[in-house]
Amino acid sequence: MAATNPDPTHRPSEDKYRDLWKWDKVTWGCHAVDCYPGGCPWRVYSRDGKIVREEQAAIFHTIQSGVPDMNPMGCQKGASWSQQHYNEERVLYPMKRAGKRGEGKWERVSWDTACTDIADAILDAVQEQGPQSLYHIGTPGEGGTQQILWNNFSAQLGFQVTDLQAEINDFSPGIYTTFGKFDPAPGADDFFHCELVLIWHANPIYTNMTWYHFIQEARYNGGEVVTIAPDFSPSAVHADYHIPIGIGTDAAFANAMSQVVIQEGLVDVDFVKKQTDLPLLVRTDNLRFLRASDLNAGADDQFYWIDAKTGGIAQAPKGTLDPGPMDPALDGAARVKLAGGAEVEVRPVFALLRDMLNAQYTPEKVHTICGVHPDTTRKLARKIAARKTRIMMGWNSGKYYHGDLMERAMMLILGLTGNWGKHGTGARSWAVGLNDGMFTVLLKSQAGSEMTLATRAMSDAMVQSMIEADPTITDEIARYNVEREMTKMMGIFTPPAFFWYHHCGYREVWNRPGYNDPEMKRSFDEYFREACEKGWFDTIDEQTRQAEPRFLIEVGGNLLRRQRGGARMLLEHLWPKLKMIVSVDWRINTTGLYADYILPVAQHYEKMNQPYSSPMHLHVLLIEKAAEPPGEARSEWQIIQGIAKALEKRAKERGASPWLRKNGQPVPLETLWSWITKGGDLADDAKLIDEIFRDSAILGTIPPDTTLEKMRQKGAVRAVGWGNSAMMVCQQSPIEPDKTHTPFRNHIEQLKPYPTLNRRASFYIDHDWYLEAGEQLPVHKDNPHHGGEHPLRLTSGHPRWSIHSMNHTSRVMLGTHRGHPVMYMNPDDMAARGLGNDDEARVFNDLAEMRIRVRWSPGTQPGQVVIYNGYEPFQFKGWRGPEVVEPGMVKWLHFAGGYGHLQYRGLHWQPIPIDRAVHVEVAKA
Ligand code: SF4
Repeated sequence: MAATNPDPTHRPSEDKYRDLWKWDKVTWGCHAVDCYPGGCPWRVYSRDGKIVREEQAAIFHTIQSGVPDMNPMGCQKGASWSQQHYNEERVLYPMKRAGKRGEGKWERVSWDTACTDIADAILDAVQEQGPQSLYHIGTPGEGGTQQILWNNFSAQLGFQVTDLQAEINDFSPGIYTTFGKFDPAPGADDFFHCELVLIWHANPIYTNMTWYHFIQEARYNGGEVVTIAPDFSPSAVHADYHIPIGIGTDAAFANAMSQVVIQEGLVDVDFVKKQTDLPLLVRTDNLRFLRASDLNAGADDQFYWIDAKTGGIAQAPKGTLDPGPMDPALDGAARVKLAGGAEVEVRPVFALLRDMLNAQYTPEKVHTICGVHPDTTRKLARKIAARKTRIMMGWNSGKYYHGDLMERAMMLILGLTGNWGKHGTGARSWAVGLNDGMFTVLLKSQAGSEMTLATRAMSDAMVQSMIEADPTITDEIARYNVEREMTKMMGIFTPPAFFWYHHCGYREVWNRPGYNDPEMKRSFDEYFREACEKGWFDTIDEQTRQAEPRFLIEVGGNLLRRQRGGARMLLEHLWPKLKMIVSVDWRINTTGLYADYILPVAQHYEKMNQPYSSPMHLHVLLIEKAAEPPGEARSEWQIIQGIAKALEKRAKERGASPWLRKNGQPVPLETLWSWITKGGDLADDAKLIDEIFRDSAILGTIPPDTTLEKMRQKGAVRAVGWGNSAMMVCQQSPIEPDKTHTPFRNHIEQLKPYPTLNRRASFYIDHDWYLEAGEQLPVHKDNPHHGGEHPLRLTSGHPRWSIHSMNHTSRVMLGTHRGHPVMYMNPDDMAARGLGNDDEARVFNDLAEMRIRVRWSPGTQPGQVVIYNGYEPFQFKGWRGPEVVEPGMVKWLHFAGGYGHLQYRGLHWQPIPIDRAVHVEVAKA
């Protein structure tokens, strides 16, 4: 007879399990990392002062009736982040290098010692080489608001804060070239309106698991999904069609579709005439735009078209896209008499484009370039012309040498078919900055709304005076100009290409002719010198050359992994020059292994913070402190204050004089702490975050009267306005409470001009260098053989298992895959090299060699090998990951400037590193 349970409510094993899920505190959480768009709201559960778990918080409201909501947002990294708070990797105390760099010997020191040593190293560097020897490597990696504050703090100290856009290269150079802005960011829910989604240079199944469902849900509306990729990528699995394109031949394919659209009369003529530069006239004698200055009739940036109503040439309006009573012609030719008396022929860009497409890019000709059958090309072109089409792009294309040409050609097919500025259309890149207060808080001289209002009034006045001086410029253009001047003045960004060239050893590799575009007529150094002499990047080259780097700090980044060329370049060329390297992180990453100091930072749920906010979800979120960080880890804001106090103290003790910041003002060494904390008013993390919410409300991005207290109740608020940040203003669409967001509506609905040289979507660039390179129109060019003459091409993508490198060594994540780095390779290529599944292979080229296990992958194209991005170099033999075989090329043309929108602007136009389609060979190890 079975024993009876004396207490039926007593179930020990069940109780134990239930006990696991008990909590005594619930807070708001998110992950302030660069997992774009991020911003997933979480509830964080703690017990006895320890975080026990997190759970997705489905708090977003339905925005548009009939459109699915965003709930619940989250990914598997986020769902297990609390476990990373307490894993073995946590650094608990400030650590000082005790052996040689990279030897792995550390000693625990006090915060006082760490801050004093760092302050002394900064003062030594300034004394020896000047403030130009201080480097803060820009990265959005980890930290949200707390990390951005550090960028600004370093800039205020006169550091060279490298532009994070060039560091990470999530730039869309072809979108920028076309629109004068790279960052259209449609709402995730706006994908529901798409009738055709082209997943092109992206893999959202891996990278956008928080909102990818909208792409699938668009199919309930009859939408179709096409993945264009060399490999049968994870995102191809769920698409209606997969187009296996040859590596790096996307511009040819896009141009072939444009050829079909024009030849078959499918062009959206009204859209093209109003929105693009295709009606503008080009001189056939020199291939330059016809300008008013040619005719002695006005400025260099006044352009012309043929008015089909009169048959004569006329000035295209600059202040509006509305042609008024005119009808700009897309075809034909005219003869005009120049100021000097000579007569030249002029033709619309459209006519030149059509001739080029017919001559070089018919679907039959392109078939031999990209391998796509002409019937497929025609079929897709017709679909694009007939449907609301969006290109779901990631940041893969921009990482190709000719990625700008690919993107320009992709924008061209959208432009010809009228596919942007309407719900469910356009392209997609990234933008952050809805939380405007994040950027203004350190720039104010005191806490409180008074200074915020004064700051806003000052910037509004600058915008207004620019518009008054030139009524043809829009509010958007004026805001860019104001931001460009302010970031330059504050020294917030420095394009790092000059640092790499002078101090990191890239000059030699950039000059290798075989690694570059053979159509360029001169050597790299000649272009580089011309760019510097013409002042296209101001005096950055001179400033960078003047001083040897001595001090380098990275906050939440991982330079030796991320840098193309990695440790191979930096340890050899840069590291010996540096007297101190500081890594601020919650763990010791590969860069930390070679650093002199590790400063332990609080993890996501251990400090007050805000994640990056994006138009893709249009929400601003709160992250609350749920528990104390372990050991002596601190928030970034508290560490900044410790360094500020130590700098004050040591400067006084050493009798150091204040040095000048970028704005010419001396660094307030004597009152540094008081200066950054506004007399101590914002010293506390919670007060700082409260101030930022209040400032954002004043600046108009979030609802009025938003405070920390209100955010504690809600967790998130939807944006109500774009504020002043240029990345937001550039969306050029209204934020409507009951509509999904799609960018560029103002250009379409209000005919507001674009911030380009000719104020139109620009498919023709007549910059001298572009003409020299034959890239005035979006053409296809073969990928240069960077890496050497080797048969395979190494491509990459963002991984599924990690945000960059920060989750790659998480035990939870390691348990979800093979647990070690892998390279995907076609079975035929493997067989030819005697490689079996999971064998270790040598991957090598002219520059270096690394080892990795091979994964049998029939979906990978022959000739292609794929290593997803982000593995820690220390996961490989000899700590050499795929970055060592990357030459780290930049496209020479991206040093071009002095041409309308082709000029340096923080986070925008600048040389960016290339890492796709590097030539390699593979052999059995
Ligand atoms: S890591 Fe990023 S994408 Fe994943 S849940 Fe967190 S915020 Fe969302």
